[in-house]
Amino acid sequence: MTQLLHTAEQMRRALAAATASSPAEHPVVGYVPTMGALHAGHRSLLEAARSSSDLLISSIFVNPLQFDDDADYRHYPRQLSEDLALLEDTGADLVFAPELEEMYPGYPASPRIRVSAGEMGRKWEGASRPGHFDGVVTVVTKLFSILTPPAPARLQAWFGQKDAEQVAIIRRLTEDLNLPAEIRVLPTVRDENGLALSSRNQRLSAEDYPAALELSAALRSLAERARAGQPLQIDQLRTRLDHAAGVEPDYLVVVDPATLEEIRPEGALLDADGVLRGPALALVAARVGPVRLIDNMEIQPD
Ligand code: AMP
Repeated sequence: MTQLLHTAEQMRRALAAATASSPAEHPVVGYVPTMGALHAGHRSLLEAARSSSDLLISSIFVNPLQFDDDADYRHYPRQLSEDLALLEDTGADLVFAPELEEMYPGYPASPRIRVSAGEMGRKWEGASRPGHFDGVVTVVTKLFSILTPPAPARLQAWFGQKDAEQVAIIRRLTEDLNLPAEIRVLPTVRDENGLALSSRNQRLSAEDYPAALELSAALRSLAERARAGQPLQIDQLRTRLDHAAGVEPDYLVVVDPATLEEIRPEGALLDADGVLRGPALALVAARVGPVRLIDNMEIQPD
């Protein structure tokens, strides 16, 4: 039975009781943070966490601090009862679904103390959505603080590669602030045509759908060229995206996966001809219809 909890205090007590009664000597608490509107991408994280944990917990919280666009926040899909059915089905033990007031008392007054994602939080997605990654690291720090079980249990938190910049930043966050969570990452789940699953896809119309496929098509081209040792020709791919009907591209870049710094020609990773010499990460973002979509792919030579 999945237990639903709404306050930090209830959640801490439930977690302490569940880990104390676990037969494991050092219980592993697998944790999947989400904003709800769960789909097969979330399910893959929940299933992997289930099979490598003694206790499976998840959270559903649409975090206003990470939205720079009020309409995006208001229209973000909310479907708690369907989500709970999926969480029950994947064997979640505890689900934390706090109200806004529980996480940010006095909201919309801004919380006085926030965590900063620093320089990394101002690149790419962070440049286009100022404050987004500060909002992400603030809520993740709060959630880890509420959901860290008493020793000897330990927390393992699961994230999707779908949000590659978020993964890089959360890895740094846990390292730099000594947060007691082990980070696990799983590949992006896509539909049969290659579109990365996202809760925001619910808002794409039938006409928007082919336009949305252009993002993963651009990434696949980069991955194929990288594998074949051909020049990446990123400028041509950008032009193609610029001309694709229904797509308003923001960025298409190849970066260092750990630092998110752009990989430039004639550096160690990209030669003067634009041929990739080692593993890199391709990132893309664009507006399609009413939503902003992001996607990424790890690319490397054979
Ligand atoms: P969200 O509910 O969008 O905040 O996502 C919660 C977690 O699910 C994050 O770690 C996301 O990276 C992950 N996630 C979202 N979409 C996918 C996907 N298509 N494949 C894998 N993981 C995903």
